[in-house]
Amino acid sequence: MNTPQLVTFVLSLSITHIACANNQALPDPKKTEIWEPEPQVVSTFNNVPSDAISLFNGQNLSEWQHGDGTEVQWPIVGNAFTIKPGTKGIKTKQQFCDMQLHIEWRSPTIDPNKSGQHLGNSGIFLQGRYEIQVLNSYQNRTYSNGQAGSIYKQSAPLVNASRPPLEWQTYDIIFTAPKYDSQGQLTQKAHVTVLHNGVLIQNHTEIQGSTRYRGLPEYPSAYECGPIHLQDHGSKVSYRNIWVRQL
Ligand code: MG
Repeated sequence: MNTPQLVTFVLSLSITHIACANNQALPDPKKTEIWEPEPQVVSTFNNVPSDAISLFNGQNLSEWQHGDGTEVQWPIVGNAFTIKPGTKGIKTKQQFCDMQLHIEWRSPTIDPNKSGQHLGNSGIFLQGRYEIQVLNSYQNRTYSNGQAGSIYKQSAPLVNASRPPLEWQTYDIIFTAPKYDSQGQLTQKAHVTVLHNGVLIQNHTEIQGSTRYRGLPEYPSAYECGPIHLQDHGSKVSYRNIWVRQL
């Protein structure tokens, strides 16, 4: 072996030694792999997930009832239904806790004699208690924590993503129900994330309690899951394409 060959040989030995030492110091990547459980396969058809429960797909309102248990009186026209003012709200027959909810809504024509909270007011009550406001908030100022996408009288939306009346709008809502211990004491408040027409307007916002017109929100003592409730506030708001995924 001549001198250059010897230098090359010594260098290659050193590199091999360093590589071996480095490999020994590195953690095994398999130790951080989690294989079970494998996430369930969910496909989508017309943007509706295959594991979603359809609450209204344009056919009928059999998943809903009025507060007194009677059949829904709200008329279906085309693939949507519209609030019949004065008939009181409707609620799902099924109960829900943690969920992903998709719902589309449309404000009616503007009544020039009305403004603020009286223009296209409705609401989506999660677990029957926490209202995500539905309102025509397009060029219609009202208190910020009462406009479209607010947690009513609690948290204003991050931005105003409202479209003009008569245009369809979407809410995608991710709701985490409050948690209670075995004594019925609240251990974790509810949280909600809302996308309005695809725009984030509530980002894992903490809900302070049942939404109220008067007075401060409060959590009642422990309770079960609840229905999704659509408010009749005297406006002919329309709804369509409603589905929910239980989480
Ligand atoms: Mg309302």
